[in-house]
Amino acid sequence: MSSDRYIDFANSDIGRRLIGAVGLPTPARLERWQAGRLRPIEGTLLISAGPLADHVRIFAQRLTDSLYSFGSDQPGATAWVAEQGPKLKAVVFDASTLTHTDQLKQLREFFQPILKSFDHSAHVVILGVAPETLAEDPLAASTQQAIEGFSRSLAKEMRDGGTVQLLHIDQGAEDQLEGALRFFLSPKSAFISGQVIRLSPCATRVQDWSRPLSGRRALVTGAARGIGASIAETLARDGAEVVLLDVPQAKSDLEALAARLGGQSLVLDICAESAALELTEALPNGVDIVVHNAGITRDKSLVNMTAEFWDSVLAVNLNAPQVLTKALLDSGTLRDHGRVILLSSITGIAGNRGQTNYAASKAGLIGMARAWAPLLQQRGISINAVAPGFIETKMTADMPFALREAGRRMSSLGQGGLPQDVAEAVAWLSQAGTGAVTGQVLRVCGQSVIGA
Ligand code: NAD
Repeated sequence: MSSDRYIDFANSDIGRRLIGAVGLPTPARLERWQAGRLRPIEGTLLISAGPLADHVRIFAQRLTDSLYSFGSDQPGATAWVAEQGPKLKAVVFDASTLTHTDQLKQLREFFQPILKSFDHSAHVVILGVAPETLAEDPLAASTQQAIEGFSRSLAKEMRDGGTVQLLHIDQGAEDQLEGALRFFLSPKSAFISGQVIRLSPCATRVQDWSRPLSGRRALVTGAARGIGASIAETLARDGAEVVLLDVPQAKSDLEALAARLGGQSLVLDICAESAALELTEALPNGVDIVVHNAGITRDKSLVNMTAEFWDSVLAVNLNAPQVLTKALLDSGTLRDHGRVILLSSITGIAGNRGQTNYAASKAGLIGMARAWAPLLQQRGISINAVAPGFIETKMTADMPFALREAGRRMSSLGQGGLPQDVAEAVAWLSQAGTGAVTGQVLRVCGQSVIGA
């Protein structure tokens, strides 16, 4: 039973009949990654033709043992035929060669015949080229931008928990495709849809896909409960040695979780005067992954917003990540090829009534990722923001009923996400190869209509 009773009801026998009769949408039960699973795709992967698709074919047999190609036979893959081929769990379409408007019809020609053959919780990835890198060819840039509109719309037309993303692949970034597809074609990205992410070349790569964070040390703030606890668990699952930080009031939960994960606990208020010093002293051997997750809300419309509400939210959510990141860099605690992940929110993109303070802080984190990224690139350090939408946690359980229901349903997937969904995104951005992604925002929001 999830805390979302509508999903449970909609997927029961009687609920299905009743909801079908009145024409309400039925949110699917999303397939999620289970511990111990090895294959990213349990089902059929269909790959189109194209130069980037050829790169995918090099490692595709590590992703699944059911490989099909569209149109023609390819080595190691069978041609997929509409209405005869197996149901599709994952699809890769290479759109990188589309440079003219009239080539856009290939999108319709490829996707239309397969739409009725998607399996439950199917994942589609379209590969393209970032339009901003095609400045010398305005026609090609416009064509590649058109693909963004297509992919976001296809994401909205997917059924039964299906998702669609567009990945822009820079020249030289092809060898980072495996890590990205292991994430975006698997249940690890169950609650992410309609996103556009750019991969640039990156010198480092994952050695062992069963423990992609092995040998890396990770700090997670606000790790005693909610999303932070899930992040710590997921990073530990992937092989990282974890340091869990939270306020003194959360000490017993924090220590219990740290002990369970074989990690270290650090009781610290990130806003304390001495926080930067205490933190660097607690990490004498350095750190590779820093997840700024601690965050608070103090909601009031601006007309009633007290200075205390304003100041506390900005202090925890924005000032502390800035001060601590700078201290970790200046002291050399954050190692080369490090990963910094900032927990933003779709509220920081769209704004929200009653949350001027919170939205300012979360937008500031996006600015922080964008501003630091070029400065840290030389050291191979990436910095990104993850922007969750509606996630089922204590924060959202405390919301008024109508707002909570609206938050859940107003997305393409028609439901809230789980802390695990945010944690999987953070774990992916923590990997060695995802230095290919920096200064970006990854929304984990089920393609929420808010701030789309
Ligand atoms: P939560 O309130 O359940 O957990 C936050 C944790 O941060 C708590 O353990 C708390 O003790 C800790 N913390 C707060 N102030 C601290 C401080 N000064 N020093 C150290 N630790 C401190 O929140 P959550 O729902 O798990 O959210 C985690 C993050 O995700 C937050 O940054 C939040 O803004 C963001 N987020 C959540 C949602 C959602 O739907 N729940 C949506 C978007 C973004």
